[in-house]
Amino acid sequence: MNLRTYKSASERRVALEQNLNITLPVIGTFSLSEEIASTRNCENMIGAVQIPMGVAGPLLIDGQEAKGEFYIPLATTEGALVASVNRGIKSITQSGGANAISTKIGISRAPVFQVESLKAGKVLIQWAQDNFKKIKELTEATSSHLTLLEIKSFQVGKNVYLRFRFDTDDAMGMNMATIATTSAVLEIEKNTQAICVAVSGNMCVDKKPNFLNFIEGRGVSASAEAVISKEILKDVLKTTSEEIFNVYQRKVVHGSILSGTIGANAQIANILTAIFLATGQDAAHIAEASAAVTTVEVLNNGGIYISVSIPDLPIGTVGGGTQLETQKEALSILKLDKAKNGKNTQIFAEIIASTALAGELSLLASLAENSLACAHTTLGRGKKI
Ligand code: NAP
Repeated sequence: MNLRTYKSASERRVALEQNLNITLPVIGTFSLSEEIASTRNCENMIGAVQIPMGVAGPLLIDGQEAKGEFYIPLATTEGALVASVNRGIKSITQSGGANAISTKIGISRAPVFQVESLKAGKVLIQWAQDNFKKIKELTEATSSHLTLLEIKSFQVGKNVYLRFRFDTDDAMGMNMATIATTSAVLEIEKNTQAICVAVSGNMCVDKKPNFLNFIEGRGVSASAEAVISKEILKDVLKTTSEEIFNVYQRKVVHGSILSGTIGANAQIANILTAIFLATGQDAAHIAEASAAVTTVEVLNNGGIYISVSIPDLPIGTVGGGTQLETQKEALSILKLDKAKNGKNTQIFAEIIASTALAGELSLLASLAENSLACAHTTLGRGKKI
């Protein structure tokens, strides 16, 4: 059975049903535009998978770019996640909201070049530096929304990695960066002895847990913080500053050190994944984005200070999965469905960081008051313990 010979999702699905002697009526029931999805997002399309979407909020944010109250769309199959985030959001909003900051780092693509010798590698690196202006013009000609910011070089033996970093306005930009980098690679090969072995040489670093992005940042780097009073810890989170700090120190600090985790946090991947799925981000980027750090400090008045820092958020509100109708609607809940001259990604990053903050706060409190298993049994399995 050659799947590519079928012209539509339904033809292909029926052929698959007959071949496997199964029925796929729910996969075949969807409201997304097949024309858009099958030509831009997914080959050999047979239908769509549905993931429940909940909403948490309102989350009050006083950010560098994100200001006001936000409702957060979360797509997940993990019962208790939305309720947990909502409880954290309630605590933060009642405490006066989260502060947030962000820096647009840009998206990176790093081809690997094979060279004849160490000296030949140095010649290549020098050529790229000397011809930065020319490469900038070439790459920027590939898109009206792309700016080359930097080419950083690394060399080991007969391998040279040129790490291109681009501003891609409101788009996450991975396709744009790959197209732009490819045009630069052709020019480099024309003018040097170097041979490009792969347009991605794993120094980008795309979709892998890594320390390079953790230190340098990628996409947007964002942080959020809040101060939670003794009263809100008691009334909303049913715990105290000492109990939260005890869990934080033994789990997030000592546990993360012992396990060699990149970053140190309680559950940031959970919140990132739910927002990424809801809003059409590339979910594989969680592999790098989840390397984040949470800090907690006990205050003299019985409250706590809590923060999260996420250095590597490859996100966009244009392009990729964001153009699919359901994902676009989810972005409209955040008022991010219209392009805003490159500001969207920073607003989005600050909202994501503030929501991750809520998730961290709620899980640490839940562990401190020992209610995690109970919440998952009640909300995740639909029964009481
Ligand atoms: P894209 O959909 O390929 O490109 C975005 C397009 O949006 C650009 O062509 C740009 O047009 C246009 N655009 C319109 N208004 C814009 C604005 N305000 N800001 C920025 N762009 C604007 O998306 P992408 O973000 O480059 O790539 C995302 C996709 O790449 C995802 O589907 C992801 O899964 C995939 N991906 C690809 C690779 C890869 O190596 N190729 C790796 C990882 C992920 P102009 O160019 O005409 O100006």
